[in-house]
Amino acid sequence: MAQLVTRPSSNGSGRQDDVRRKKPRRDEVPPGENLCRYCTAKCCRYFALPIDEPTEWADFDTIRWFLFHEHTAVFIEDGAWYLMVATRCKHLRDDHRCGIYATRPGICRQYSTANCEYEDDWVYDHYFETSEQIEEYAEAVLGPRPGQSFRSPRPDPLPIVEPFAGPHAPPACGPAPLALEEPSRWCPTLPG
Ligand code: SF4
Ligand code: SF4
Repeated sequence: MAQLVTRPSSNGSGRQDDVRRKKPRRDEVPPGENLCRYCTAKCCRYFALPIDEPTEWADFDTIRWFLFHEHTAVFIEDGAWYLMVATRCKHLRDDHRCGIYATRPGICRQYSTANCEYEDDWVYDHYFETSEQIEEYAEAVLGPRPGQSFRSPRPDPLPIVEPFAGPHAPPACGPAPLALEEPSRWCPTLPG
């Protein structure tokens, strides 16, 4: 489905016009045009920090704690692990442009459109949003945690229901006769 990007632009008179245009695919952007011009500044709405690859339960427990917090995720890309926090840079303007472009940090200057997340179908090799997801991954990699599982204990099986007893209990049914001519004698119905 085509996605429309709304980007206010100044016409020099201080008035802002809404420019609605179809978001082109990366290979449709005309030569010489900046890809960012057609983007809603996705890369300014989160940051991701590399973290050590978890190898034991204590490591996964720390990642589990990360994911208890709102707007966090952990992903793996090309074998490297990252903690991601979805939070908008306070210098991002409403027109999706940088408000401190001339003095933006080096990490922003070094970021390139060459391998950025411009596409809307961007996916990671592995992506964890909840503590339950990382728990399942840890159990798949390490096996059940000795003596303590992240998962709830397996519930007891359903109890075996005792046969109906009491003064109004129906007569016990005898073994079914081989040829049942009068069913009411074998298993009589309850009084109405
Ligand atoms: S670098 Fe990529 S994700 Fe960031 S604003 Fe430009 S096109 Fe969008
Ligand atoms: S400083 Fe500018 S380029 Fe860097 S994340 Fe913030 S808005 Fe984006």
